[in-house]
Amino acid sequence: MCEKFLIINAGSSSLKFSLYDMPVAKEIVNGYIEKIGNQDSFYTLKYNGQKQEKNRVIMNHTEAVKVMLEELLENQFISDISDIKGIGHRVLHGGEFYSESVIIDDEVLNNIKSLTKLGPLHHPGEIAGIESMQSIMPEVPQIAVFDTAFHQTMPKENYMYAVPYSWYEENGVRKYGFHGTSHKYITETMKNYFNKDNVNLIICHIGSGASMCCVKDGKCYDTTMGLTPLDGLVMGTRSGNIDSSIIEYICKERNMSVEEVTSELNKRSGLLGIAGKNDFRDVENLANSGNEKAQLAIKMLKNSIAKYIAQYYVELDGKVDAIVFTAGIGENAVSLRASIVNSLSSALNIELDQEANNSIARFKEKQSGMITTEDSKIKVMVIPTNEEYMILKDTYDMANKKIEKSSKVKNLEYK
Ligand code: ADP
Repeated sequence: MCEKFLIINAGSSSLKFSLYDMPVAKEIVNGYIEKIGNQDSFYTLKYNGQKQEKNRVIMNHTEAVKVMLEELLENQFISDISDIKGIGHRVLHGGEFYSESVIIDDEVLNNIKSLTKLGPLHHPGEIAGIESMQSIMPEVPQIAVFDTAFHQTMPKENYMYAVPYSWYEENGVRKYGFHGTSHKYITETMKNYFNKDNVNLIICHIGSGASMCCVKDGKCYDTTMGLTPLDGLVMGTRSGNIDSSIIEYICKERNMSVEEVTSELNKRSGLLGIAGKNDFRDVENLANSGNEKAQLAIKMLKNSIAKYIAQYYVELDGKVDAIVFTAGIGENAVSLRASIVNSLSSALNIELDQEANNSIARFKEKQSGMITTEDSKIKVMVIPTNEEYMILKDTYDMANKKIEKSSKVKNLEYK
């Protein structure tokens, strides 16, 4: 018998949701509510190959949850809210509390609330989503799936910053890492592929937000994002790592506040800061038409990724099962992948299979596979990420743990 499970991903001004039939993991409908808190908020519903867009003023996340449930009922995706047997919430920050997903109880919710200072943009919406669902459906298990959880296995020397120790003890300043659900999905997929648990991987999740993960013996050993998702690689609108003295310098030089400079580093830097465009396709088109700033931005992005691959190669003592590209840019940007692999070719003894690389992208027949030759010392692969599936899997497994405490947890196959 099919049971319905709901996945909720609340952003600062948005709420995405998907309803699934389980255990077949078939998506029934997904929705995206945008511009929450604005007069021009609207939402989109997608089901059966159809797309519906509706305008409606939605002032906060509690209202957004009500609109979501109304739509699910009116369109008969559920006949009653009791059809929903489990709810998975994507939560940005689990701090040092959580190294895996958890069933949300009062203590978990309090911990998530206490982490709002580390996720000020995301946590208020996420908490409102959880609390609304709890008040409407108190009996249904709700599961928190944290973006940071997979990175909790990092050794201390990799997650500490060399700053006064009290900043760590009293203020929680350390590297947490993000995109953990994606890095975990790729790691689990590669464990299946190599048929072993102790895989060593270098994962490049390159989307608008981008991070890399060094996986040693099947666990996160290092990652590029830090206390916040601003650190590490050059991204669509984020600077990645910079000399932190730049902040004070620019505050004085341009008469700006720390908040303004931090906002510029998050929203107006990266590809956008250098090339004037944040979407990689636009930057690539500009570069191909001879725009020097766009060419520079792509070189900077390439170098930032290549440098971390080299660093993680050393951290893994050269024993790397695979380098994996994933997310929007990693899965599609054929020429960027080629230039990264070629730039590391002689240092790491890797050899690009140009034809294989050219043949893999979301819009092509092949969406995953190997892009290096048989002679290459390290396999380089493209694997589409599937964070939503990972959230669904954890939600389903944990909800069933709660519903049937004594019975064996059902296992889903990875798609
Ligand atoms: P996020 O989830 O962080 O918003 P995505 O993983 O969806 O990001 O990736 C978005 C990025 O992927 C954008 O910069 C976009 O330009 C890039 N992208 C999507 N399709 C292509 C493509 N065909 N070629 C190059 N880049 C692409």
